[in-house]
Amino acid sequence: MSTPCIEVKNLQKYFKVRNGFLHATDDVSFKIEKGKTMGIVGESGCGKSTLGRTIIHMHESTGGQIFYNGEDVTKVSHHELKELRTHMQMVFQDPYSSLNPRFTVEQTIREPLQLTHKYTKAQIDEEVTQLMELCGVEERLRLAYPHEMDGGRRQRVGIARALALNPEFIVCDEPVSALDVSIQAQVLNLLKELQQKRNLTYMFVTHDLSVVRHISNDIGVMYLGQMVETSESKELFVQPLHPYTKALLSAIPSTNIHSKQERIILKGEITSPINPKPGCRFAARCPYATPECSQPQHLEEVLPNHFVSCHRCKEINNL
Ligand code: SF4
Repeated sequence: MSTPCIEVKNLQKYFKVRNGFLHATDDVSFKIEKGKTMGIVGESGCGKSTLGRTIIHMHESTGGQIFYNGEDVTKVSHHELKELRTHMQMVFQDPYSSLNPRFTVEQTIREPLQLTHKYTKAQIDEEVTQLMELCGVEERLRLAYPHEMDGGRRQRVGIARALALNPEFIVCDEPVSALDVSIQAQVLNLLKELQQKRNLTYMFVTHDLSVVRHISNDIGVMYLGQMVETSESKELFVQPLHPYTKALLSAIPSTNIHSKQERIILKGEITSPINPKPGCRFAARCPYATPECSQPQHLEEVLPNHFVSCHRCKEINNL
């Protein structure tokens, strides 16, 4: 079997807060094969963006390991980390706030290239032209500022900038959620085309299951900093096994008029992510919770390549 592009083992990212530690990402493990897309879904505040930022070293991890092409990058030197960062980039949710308002399109895309001190001005000009073309940014916008473009074009510029250093792995953090629905499909198609042309590996973070369904090979579902289920995308939509995933999927409107699926409304308080107790963090909202759910649990392979973190998974799903 080939080495995955990204592998994360027991990754933790805690933030110090006044009364303890906020467990933003806790004991998360998964891998992403080269050229594939892993979608990470969950409600806002579940730790999915923190997970992406920790993997590409925008945050320092608290514990666990991150492997890039088989190398544990939590142990690399400062110098190696600088080089490594060129291979891992991020496309942000809101292109308006992530782009420098004082930079034109050309300046935005050329900046990462200039900072490497490896290219001549002519080479950079040529590369900017090619990246604009690749990402569908019209040449007439070369000297335009972010406020002079619509959201879709701004996101295309953000993607061109992320591609400037020819990365292999990109974290796409809610890249279409700030865009009009009519523009979302165009940007998703662009990301797919670029993946094929450049053999990119994506981690696609979103709260929108209908978006992630069309772009991901595999999906990981997060709840309060922990991964509760991972599987192939198609399988997850046909056979969700974790009670939280079932509730999430039940909220997607069905296009099948014969579907009798009812929406599962979750009741109960969301557990605090600050100093959480051991045991299932979904227990306060789970209709199947029993006293055994207060015991620690981890992802287990319940079906081939289908991992679930739930004490009662087999019983609930008659497996
Ligand atoms: Fe529900 Fe218990 Fe499974 Fe948690 S471990 S999801 S509380 S049944």
